[in-house]
Amino acid sequence: MSINLKSIYRKIDEFTLQISLEVKQGELVSLLGPSGCGKTTTLRIIAGFEMSDRGTVSLNGRDIAHLPPEKRDVGMVFQDYALFPHMTVYENIAYGPRLRKWDKKRIDDSVKRFLKIVHLEGFEKRKTENLSGGEQQRVALARALVTEPQLLLLDEPLSALDAKLRKSLRKEIRRIQQELKITTIYVTHDQEEALAISDRIAVMEGGKCVQFDRPEILFREPSHLFSAGFIGNSNLIEVQSLNRAESEAETAIGKLQVGFISPNMIGKAFVFFRPDKCLKTNGTGSSNTFSGVIVDDEYSGTHRSLEIKVEDVIVKALLFDNSTCKMGDTIHLQIAPEDCRVISETTSE
Ligand code: ATP
Repeated sequence: MSINLKSIYRKIDEFTLQISLEVKQGELVSLLGPSGCGKTTTLRIIAGFEMSDRGTVSLNGRDIAHLPPEKRDVGMVFQDYALFPHMTVYENIAYGPRLRKWDKKRIDDSVKRFLKIVHLEGFEKRKTENLSGGEQQRVALARALVTEPQLLLLDEPLSALDAKLRKSLRKEIRRIQQELKITTIYVTHDQEEALAISDRIAVMEGGKCVQFDRPEILFREPSHLFSAGFIGNSNLIEVQSLNRAESEAETAIGKLQVGFISPNMIGKAFVFFRPDKCLKTNGTGSSNTFSGVIVDDEYSGTHRSLEIKVEDVIVKALLFDNSTCKMGDTIHLQIAPEDCRVISETTSE
């Protein structure tokens, strides 16, 4: 099932959600952003628990404004699982099919099929209150999927679990999603989680989607200050003056040739580059170089994370060579123009 959110507008007290989003059949799209940016509200509008003031939600090209939640063919999994504690695993998963009055054999076959998919065979008779967090989340997933909805909505499904379990369960969710080819929207504030499992990520800030792209594009080519700062480790050096024709930005760390300048900038502009793109040089001659004093040094075996004070600016660099350098040393770095992008606080889009 494809989903199209067209010019959705929803005002709740001081908060305004304004979003358009198209999700293709079989895609896993994450809504990623800090607390309060409108991820859950977007999900609730798709599920039908909340109405938008303006705009349309279409599933497979059909406007579903008039459909109540139970008619939308949507499976949902929440952060707190919302399982029935007094029921067994089997009864929890069979709940939806029973409501739909499926016959006994169909229910039994489906529950067993989905227990297998979530790797919980043999758990049928267990009470859900006695299960671990990870097991409960698998039951919640099976319960959401057993009626074979066309759309799966997951709202921070792993946030109650510890880091190790989160990592293994997100792999499971991705495997199941791909196996069933089910269109999925996944809400998270964890950028690593979103990068790891998504086909595309909608980065949200203050009720708006600021960038919607594939993980690699978001990471390498952020178009917006917020996505650059929110995803991964980055340097954002304020631009003092910009020469578009020469692709040149004057900054506190010097004049930098850049590979990209956002065409529609509003507000302050910044040169963005990733710390791992900095190269150590001997400081003579070449362009796009800058020098500074090492003020922080963390060695991890495979690389060295440095913070370098250049004039009044701190630049982060990740060096993969085993060069010996220590706090207080002066270091010369180079950044290739194609790794530098000029982006702004907001865009005119
Ligand atoms: P989190 O990651 O913390 O769950 P979120 O990105 O999912 O955040 P939403 O739950 O969509 O954010 O909330 C967006 C904003 O709307 C918040 O400021 C929230 O306080 C506000 N909001 C949502 N529902 C209501 C409501 N029923 N009444 C008042 N304000 C609300």
